[in-house]
Amino acid sequence: MTVKRDWTSWKTTAYPLANRLKRAKTEMNTPKQLYARFPYMFAGKDLGITLYKGWFLLFAKLCQDIDDVLGADKRNFHWAQVKEKFGAARWYFSMQNMHATVAVNEIGSDGVVTSLYRTLVRDVESISSHVSRLVHAAETLTHATCIVCGEPGKLDSHGGYILVLCVKHARQRIGGGSLPQYLFDEADQV
Ligand SMILES: [Zn+2]
Repeated sequence: MTVKRDWTSWKTTAYPLANRLKRAKTEMNTPKQLYARFPYMFAGKDLGITLYKGWFLLFAKLCQDIDDVLGADKRNFHWAQVKEKFGAARWYFSMQNMHATVAVNEIGSDGVVTSLYRTLVRDVESISSHVSRLVHAAETLTHATCIVCGEPGKLDSHGGYILVLCVKHARQRIGGGSLPQYLFDEADQV
């Protein structure tokens, strides 16, 4: 997705995403509900999982998409670190390199059958690169999604530190007002 940076065009380029996310809204509205839906994704060692309200639907949809790609074999997939840096999401995952093996029988010139086990590396790589592409695409969308409310936004540094904010929340910060709480309450997380 191309993210245009000027004020006049951002509405037309980013609104379809906001609408899509609203339509995709499921019963997963809080981290607690997301953890209950995909417990394995949050069961491994991590360096911190921080979810923001404005990006939550994007992240929840990403988890659903990854779950679909993994299928029955979850390959020890889990989030290693979920955070924000320089205004954009940084979502790191860990996935086991569980190579599928297949037996191949080779008959030598002496007539001896040798069973070899070959790894279907290509299949494993295609799944992990598919997951990587999904994560990268969702991270890219956070560059244009208000971290507070999920409406289309752009990078804003008027309050001292860089955040992606919609027009309303950028103006609120410029005007000296404090932004609404965009981290989830403790009760929504555990
Ligand atoms: Zn906003």
